[in-house]
Amino acid sequence: METFYRDSWVEVDLSAIEYNMNNLRKRLKPDTKIYAVVKANAYGHGDEQVAKKALESGADGLAVALLDEALKLRRAGFVCPLLVMGWTRPQDAPLAAELEISLTVFQEEWLKKVDPSALSKPLKLHMKWDTGMGRIGVRTTEEMDRILPIIKNQPSFVLEAVFTHFATADDARLDYFEEQERRFYKLLNHFERVWSENVEFHTGNSAASMRFPERMKNFVRFGISMYGLYPSDVVKEERPIDLKPAFSLQSRLVHVKKLEEQESISYGATYQTEDEEWIGTIPLGYADGWIRKLQGLEVLVDGKRHPIVGRICMDQFMIRLDQEYPIGTKVTLIGKQGDEEVTTDEVADYLETINYEVPCMISHRVPRLFIDGGQIVEINNPVK
Ligand SMILES: *Cc1c(COP(=O)(O)O)cnc(C)c1O
Repeated sequence: METFYRDSWVEVDLSAIEYNMNNLRKRLKPDTKIYAVVKANAYGHGDEQVAKKALESGADGLAVALLDEALKLRRAGFVCPLLVMGWTRPQDAPLAAELEISLTVFQEEWLKKVDPSALSKPLKLHMKWDTGMGRIGVRTTEEMDRILPIIKNQPSFVLEAVFTHFATADDARLDYFEEQERRFYKLLNHFERVWSENVEFHTGNSAASMRFPERMKNFVRFGISMYGLYPSDVVKEERPIDLKPAFSLQSRLVHVKKLEEQESISYGATYQTEDEEWIGTIPLGYADGWIRKLQGLEVLVDGKRHPIVGRICMDQFMIRLDQEYPIGTKVTLIGKQGDEEVTTDEVADYLETINYEVPCMISHRVPRLFIDGGQIVEINNPVK
């Protein structure tokens, strides 16, 4: 097994991915399929390992944001349906076609720029409808009427599916969500009049699929909640399904010392000991994504909370300990120790951001260790 030579690592519990997938499936209608969203290196968890577990847990396909991400998965041997949800350059369409990667289409201009003679296999397309997200997608029936004939008249273009994305499916107020649904059905009404071939439809992200399973179409795109995180506080309160977080961040004390009162810690000497204090050093810093704004947050040592003191450096930071601990003592930055827990949500709140951003920001310098059924099954250390 690959290994690493530092005392900080991410643990990804693959059994949690399976648990979350199973709980979503129990909530969906029996014929609703699940695409596992593994963009951005599976939200920072590790794309190949999460994709494998998601498929073993019954996912029907994978969705990513970029063609590069899809290529990586194809080349790693994933043969399942694979969708790129973002923009792909038209000149890259032949590469997608060759590897049977489905692309998102929403512009007439784009379709005209794809050279059908360069396609070695049919190009699979999902048409995106912008029903109110305001990001990418067809907004009107007029736009749709310009795109559909191009697809229809080109045998190398295959329209597999049509999809949209909700902007507020995780909110307490549902009026905008319902407005998006109305716009979707209006476009669908028109689409069904002009398109006779079979296509699939997909609308739901984690929030919509968990909260409104009965309204879901052929499949859902399951992202944040597959990783065990609720898309918002509202959904966390509602708890439509139980989730287990897969991600934790661990380190070890590499230095422990007792300081006299009035001694300073780290750059800028912004922290001063008030009394004699035990100070521990942790080998993780902002180059690992443990950003400077986290100064003041607490981490777990010996099942207790200890505050980060002084500025976080590029590769190290310091904490105030309640007593002396041996070098090598485990430090949990995100995750559980005994009855205490620092959740991804707590870190996100501290940074005034959303939980999605937290695992994504832990950089590739931190090795990922994959656990399944309590055993280490794989280590991924991109720094080698
Ligand atoms: C990222 C993304 C998703 C997944 O959303 P979650 O809230 O993480 O479930 C679904 N659809 C699209 C288009 C996305 O970009």
